[in-house]
Amino acid sequence: MEQLKEILRKRDLKATSTRLDVLATISNYNSAIPYSEIQKSLVDFDRVTLYRTINILVDKGIIHKATTIGEEAYFAMCGTTCDSEDHQHDHIHFTCKVCSKVSCLHLSDKIMVSVPGHQIDQLNIEASGICDACLDSTSPN
Ligand SMILES: [Zn+2]
Ligand SMILES: [Zn+2]
Ligand SMILES: [Zn+2]
Repeated sequence: MEQLKEILRKRDLKATSTRLDVLATISNYNSAIPYSEIQKSLVDFDRVTLYRTINILVDKGIIHKATTIGEEAYFAMCGTTCDSEDHQHDHIHFTCKVCSKVSCLHLSDKIMVSVPGHQIDQLNIEASGICDACLDSTSPN
């Protein structure tokens, strides 16, 4: 909790219990969390409050939308590279076809993409396949 309070303080946000609850829910989830899961674990929240809280956390560079599957948005914590000015993610969003888990995968190399005549500030890469846990469980050994 102290760590989460610190994250909010650094972004000039008051550490309200609403924000802390939402942040704790997102950071305790072991992959990107579907919006409906956040709703489920925070039953005392009305829809508007939750929606606003999510929006302000995204605005301030604390969380980001990892992907959208169907109607469902998935959210994940940001690292220290994001702030209220900009989100900077050196990672890709991976959706497992088997367990449907969405994860932020950090790459060992910085992704460089260049398009003639354009300046690229942000890159959002989505990938899908089979995650390490599912690969492990399907291997014969
Ligand atoms: Zn971010
Ligand atoms: Zn999987
Ligand atoms: Zn991510």
